[in-house]
Amino acid sequence: MFKTMTCAMQKPISIFKTILDVILPPVCYVCGTPCSGKYGLCDACLGKIKHIPPPWCGKCGRHLSNAENLCGECNSKKSYVENAWSCCYYEGIIKECIHLFKYRGYLGLADIFKDIMSDFIRKNEINKEIDLIVPIPVYPTKKRERTYNHAEILARSVSKSFAIPLDTRNLKKILWTRSQSELDREKRLKNVKDSFLAVDKMAFAGKNVLIVDDVYTTGATINECAKVLLNSRADKVFSLTLARGL
Ligand SMILES: [Zn+2]
Ligand SMILES: [Zn+2]
Repeated sequence: MFKTMTCAMQKPISIFKTILDVILPPVCYVCGTPCSGKYGLCDACLGKIKHIPPPWCGKCGRHLSNAENLCGECNSKKSYVENAWSCCYYEGIIKECIHLFKYRGYLGLADIFKDIMSDFIRKNEINKEIDLIVPIPVYPTKKRERTYNHAEILARSVSKSFAIPLDTRNLKKILWTRSQSELDREKRLKNVKDSFLAVDKMAFAGKNVLIVDDVYTTGATINECAKVLLNSRADKVFSLTLARGL
């Protein structure tokens, strides 16, 4: 019944979209030039997305100029995350796209984010190591303000692409905290401390978990979540973000 309804509904929607495209030709989300690319971005903007080339730091995913295993920062600090991978540099077009997606509701950009993350996973065979995908949770009132959790949308699309189970229920944000983007490194660590809780610890026991989020800055939030997951007897915790700073 559901399948029949879905097929029947697709036609009117696609006819409506075609008419709409004639009246209001689609334009690039970022630069506003006319474009009909599948991602809603023109070729020029797509070409400006900067992927982070290997080699990467074996912990935080930062590009290294030569093949040493860890960057200076990871050599001197404790991390609960096995590997924190990031696909692109958080600058220019991808930064603008993440802002449009996160704060202005341009959810159509989820398609390109999904393809960037999925390509990265495929090339690096990350899916072979992962049993469960968990998005960084947001505090309930924040989700109500935005009506969606952007990390959950990314995590759901990756989960679907690789048929890896998704858990959006058992890791919760239990404290309201200030936005990490307003704070320096030290304050970020304190800000997120003890703000996450594993509801059902057994959900993570013995599993290799991949945490998904949009941006890696200091890694404080991801690290705090990884600590909770390991305390719930997760085997290993990894993370994947769409973008990170230099
Ligand atoms: Zn453009
Ligand atoms: Zn590092």
